[in-house]
Amino acid sequence: MTTTSDLPAADLLPFFAYRDQQLVMEGVPLERLAHEHGTPLFVYSKAAMLSALAAYQRGLKGRPHLICYAMKANSSLAILQTLVRAGCGLDIVSGGELERALAAGVEPSKVIFSGVGKTRAEMRQALTAGIGCFNVESRAELDVLNEVAHDMGRRAPVSVRVNPNVDAQTHPYISTGLKGNKFGIAHEDVIDTYVHAAACDGLRVVGIDCHIGSQITQTGPYLDAMDRVLDLVEAIEARGVAIEHIDFGGGLGIDYQGDTPPEADALWSQLLQRMEARGYGDRKIYIEPGRSLVGNAGVCLTEVLYLKPGEHKNFLIVDAAMNDLPRPAMYQAFHRIVPVAQPQTEEQATTWDVVGPVCESGDWLGRDRALSVRAGDLLAVMSAGAYCMSMASNYNTRGRAAEVLVDGTRSTLIRERETPADQFRTERMLPAA
Ligand SMILES: *Cc1c(COP(=O)(O)O)cnc(C)c1O
Repeated sequence: MTTTSDLPAADLLPFFAYRDQQLVMEGVPLERLAHEHGTPLFVYSKAAMLSALAAYQRGLKGRPHLICYAMKANSSLAILQTLVRAGCGLDIVSGGELERALAAGVEPSKVIFSGVGKTRAEMRQALTAGIGCFNVESRAELDVLNEVAHDMGRRAPVSVRVNPNVDAQTHPYISTGLKGNKFGIAHEDVIDTYVHAAACDGLRVVGIDCHIGSQITQTGPYLDAMDRVLDLVEAIEARGVAIEHIDFGGGLGIDYQGDTPPEADALWSQLLQRMEARGYGDRKIYIEPGRSLVGNAGVCLTEVLYLKPGEHKNFLIVDAAMNDLPRPAMYQAFHRIVPVAQPQTEEQATTWDVVGPVCESGDWLGRDRALSVRAGDLLAVMSAGAYCMSMASNYNTRGRAAEVLVDGTRSTLIRERETPADQFRTERMLPAA
């Protein structure tokens, strides 16, 4: 007889549980999905995404605001549709993302365009679509945008992304708000830039923007950035340039390894208090969360191919690799790795480095993990909803993984596994010799 008791979800995230020793997302056993669709397989929980979004919506309730999901975190069309249908706008960083955003049905006025290297073609494309705002990152870009819009007989809505020079206290590769990185316009040049922008007939100043980094787990850096941005708003408006909205970017962290970032609603109640105290209580707020909306909604399922115990290290070779899940190789990032079928408690765990088949020593998913596994077992790499599939590559001519969206007890394939033929499609053979 089987029992249906939910076992304690040791180290598991919301919307996951072990039921009858099987890892379940919402109401769907993950083993079933792996058998149905193969591995590596990304699986996302719709409820987890909507619950993460709801925390922001609660935090900003009653205030004019727009939540623009930073779609580079995970730009799969069905993920975009899920968030767009729940009311999100989108933060894009390329013309390709604009096409995806429009395909997913977003209202163009709810699209904002970030990034340091927008091309003229991308600017024209976004102006034609009628996006809500360009977040401009340099004086040179501002002048080019002015020219492009002017030639089209348009006024481009602009925000200047300011570099508030605060330390987000996160990994250096994902810290963006300090002097000395490529993002934003230096604090001391911001006011002149606004005065200049306001005088350009191809531009219409609508807001101000900052984004200080990613995987931020403390409230302090946000409060510091807010103070610096509000100081700037005050100074800019004193020069006669109106700022309709203030965009505080994204960056809120998630629990990868017992991290304890503030909840989005708690963070925003503190930030709103600060805004009110400074007299900006009814200013329109934009935010650009990415990771915190999707990161903990996703897992990557992978099958153990081989056990390779060694004198110095034990390697667990699995069928997912750095091309599927680049964060460990790229940032030495930590993802929890848990068995899909809970092992019997008496089984002895061994310490393994979990590695993929790609021909690179950097191809690892986890180091020194205590797991009790056999070849053929399934593992779930947790917190794989953000910056995994959207960073996946075809290195080693590996097709990108399939993706499934879970909603309660239902599951829907939202991306087919990529075939070698898909990968060759845009290549051209040389003529016969
Ligand atoms: C990447 C990015 C975001 C989202 O960051 P998260 O850490 O995923 O929330 C928001 N704004 C800009 C400009 C970005 O580049």
